Amino acid sequence: MNYHSLSIKEIFQELKTSEKGLTNKETSQRLRKYGFNEISKKREKSLVFLFLKQFHNPILYILFVAMVISFVFNHFIDAYVILAVLLINAIIGFYQERKAENAINALEKLIISYAKVIRNDDLVKIPSDKVVPGDIILLEEGDRVPADSRLIETKNFRIQESSLTGESFPVEKKIRVLDKSVSLGDRINMIFMGTSVVSGSARAVIVATGDKTAIGQIAESIQEVVHPKMHLNEKVKQLSIQISIFAFIGAALTFIIGFFINKLEFVDIFLFTIAALISGIPEGLPAVLIIVLSIGANRMAKKRAIIRHLPAIETLGVATVIATDKTGTLTENSITVEKVLTYEGNFEVTGKGWDPNGKFSKNRKEINPLKFNSLKKFLEISALCNKGNLIKEKDKYNIVGDPTEVSLLILAKKAGLDKKISKEKVIDDFSFNSDLKFRASLVDVHGKNQVYTAGAFETILEKSSYIHSNKNISFDKKLKKEFFEKAGDFAGKGNRIIALAYRDVPKNIKYFSNDLMRNLVFVGLAVMKDPPRKGVKESIQKAKNAGIRVIMKTGDHKETAVAIAREIGLVSGNAKVLTELDLSKMSEKEFRESIRKVNIFARVTPKMKMKIVKTLQEQGEIVAMTGDGVNDAPALKKADIGISMGIIGTDVAKESSEMVLANDNFSSIVDAVEEGRIVFRNLRQTSFYLITTNVAEEVTIISLMVMNLPLPLLPIQLLYLNLVTDTFSGVSLAMEPGHNDVLSNPPRDKKENILNKGIIPFLIISAGLMVMFTIPLFLYFLPQGIDKARTVAFVAMSMFQLFNLFNMRSLRESVFKIGFFSNKYLILLFGVSFALMLGVIYIPAIQSVFRFIPLSFMEFLVLILISSTVFIVGEIYKRIKYRD
Ligand code: ADP
Ligand code: MG
Repeated sequence: MNYHSLSIKEIFQELKTSEKGLTNKETSQRLRKYGFNEISKKREKSLVFLFLKQFHNPILYILFVAMVISFVFNHFIDAYVILAVLLINAIIGFYQERKAENAINALEKLIISYAKVIRNDDLVKIPSDKVVPGDIILLEEGDRVPADSRLIETKNFRIQESSLTGESFPVEKKIRVLDKSVSLGDRINMIFMGTSVVSGSARAVIVATGDKTAIGQIAESIQEVVHPKMHLNEKVKQLSIQISIFAFIGAALTFIIGFFINKLEFVDIFLFTIAALISGIPEGLPAVLIIVLSIGANRMAKKRAIIRHLPAIETLGVATVIATDKTGTLTENSITVEKVLTYEGNFEVTGKGWDPNGKFSKNRKEINPLKFNSLKKFLEISALCNKGNLIKEKDKYNIVGDPTEVSLLILAKKAGLDKKISKEKVIDDFSFNSDLKFRASLVDVHGKNQVYTAGAFETILEKSSYIHSNKNISFDKKLKKEFFEKAGDFAGKGNRIIALAYRDVPKNIKYFSNDLMRNLVFVGLAVMKDPPRKGVKESIQKAKNAGIRVIMKTGDHKETAVAIAREIGLVSGNAKVLTELDLSKMSEKEFRESIRKVNIFARVTPKMKMKIVKTLQEQGEIVAMTGDGVNDAPALKKADIGISMGIIGTDVAKESSEMVLANDNFSSIVDAVEEGRIVFRNLRQTSFYLITTNVAEEVTIISLMVMNLPLPLLPIQLLYLNLVTDTFSGVSLAMEPGHNDVLSNPPRDKKENILNKGIIPFLIISAGLMVMFTIPLFLYFLPQGIDKARTVAFVAMSMFQLFNLFNMRSLRESVFKIGFFSNKYLILLFGVSFALMLGVIYIPAIQSVFRFIPLSFMEFLVLILISSTVFIVGEIYKRIKYRD
């Protein structure tokens, strides 16, 4: 359809809709007819590719060559075992990559985008995938366009369409009817799914949803963009190289000693060398990384912090500063107007939260608010200078729009006033702007035009020249000061204060503009309560204990900011606050100094927030920063971890962030930092495990070869040993939960490598003990036959590795302190590995393949006791080293 060339009336007829929107019954029918507003995924065909990709790995090429050589030399068993290894590796890799991909898709779904829709003549908020053709939608700055729509009404409306047209400059949209032949990029009366509103507001009617949208038609290429490539961390690459170097050296030594010194058969030593190399190289590491990260992302999601880019998890773990908003993040954002102050005195209002029932009183006596001239005007402005809406669903009230505005709407409703029933009519509306700190609307008041405005009290009071009263009071300096002081007093108690005012404007003015904002008639102040969230105080303490500085940056008044900051323990005593004005007067040097020390920034604009982040970063800090508005997007991008608000945040802010807080709650940030640290710790401990076991093996094998003894293990035995230990049991360390010491240390240095000298004691312990016991055991059993001696060596080495798992659960704390059974996967995988080992040794068919000789119960028991020394010594080491 060429909707761009039809008039709005024709479109309404075509789509059987109207300004009042669709009815609920109609929309559910259309939803059935047109389907959900989402683009269907066409990815399944790439599964084969994903599987084949698993073989694309230099290590596997070596394995492949080894397999061919084994075939050529008639070592069929080895050949089949290597083939099995190849396949198992590919299957595990495939499975894990799929799982990680699904995990990310699931996370993406958690970030719900909402559309503001008119249905049954009422403004409601619904998930964007539920809109249908014919729906009338409302769009504001920062919103994502939910589906292709034709504009009905625009106001300064500009759209960023780069996702569709590649054009990075915002386009101004208009509503005039266009010629049929106009191409997609020039259809300025249309807006398209997936683009976003840069400024202004608009109303539009949806004409196409889901796959029928312009972007749905070209979905194939878009999906590449939607799924960010999972780039593995630099550190893991480096670690893989480090470990591989170990493996190559070990393998080279094995070959040199075996072939040149011990003069073993080439085939034997070659196959063994290959097995040693395969064992030593951490094929499993990238997979482990993905597992660790996606487990971390899942745990964070449970705590309502949704990660958009997996590598950001690790960055969270090194965050040194959290710069947070106040309203909604530290506070509940369930704003209630408790008092109204006008020239007629102070009015009290009862009622809590979003419930629009409450009573007005003055001097503790209930009153009829509409009987008071100033209060009446105040309530009219509250109702009409407002884009919010309140919806009752069953017994619950849900809000649409900005909580500050909704609180004013509720105030009006408590007095029986409402935008809808009002005789006054809104002609134009100017949304709240956090740089200007007010909102306004142009209203037809019984034939006269007036600007109604609400905003920060300093801003409004300064622009006011008169006061609304029926007594002709002059709004002189003294009276103004009185209101300033009253506002300051309440702000000092942690209240949020909004001032309301109006002015007459000539009838010919049809649009609001900023130059109308002078000579206002001040009406009164709303004193609002927005209590701190529960648990925020504890989270701030946690962050402080973890060596993380918490900074509050808010657009609110400084007294309000300090009062709240004190209440939640962010500061104590006479804390310093700086406002935008203070900061703008400073020299560069003073500015930098202040940023180092001050933790509360009030009345700051998004631009200043950006400057604060930049300065902190220059001072070497790793900054996690929250934001919600469009103007916050640059700062969110600039921050090391941009955090957006899931509920009040704009879609643009969400798209510029690494993490979305599903509940807008500050506590979730601290929880996420904790998970970030756990992720790095698990990565480190898993790799320590891989390295210590591998080095211990290599040292044992090489020592035996140096003593000119036969190979202590057959290649297949060595391969099995590593498949069970490395890739299998090691994964359980990736699941290790947090211990209570995670948040008790300062953040680690960002540059710190995964591999550090902390591994050395554990290397010595595991390699030392394995050599010390395995060699004598091997020698002791050698007279009973080489196969028996190898079985003994195999069991001993396996058990040493399995016991070493427990050491690696914490590098500092005793396993008994962190709870012996607290990592259930570890216990499970320990058990399974053990059972599998019994299987290969005792099940006759398998036993002969591996050339194992069954051991007696006593022999087995002794081996277990001996190998458990690695765990005992590990525990003793931790106790001595970290005595207190
Ligand atoms: P914050 O979210 O950090 O409290 P904002 O930039 O949103 O800061 O708000 C700054 C000030 O502007 C608030 O203290 C309040 O006085 C005023 N204000 C905030 N939201 C609105 C709104 N929707 N309408 C009118 N005034 C508002
Ligand atoms: Mg705000």
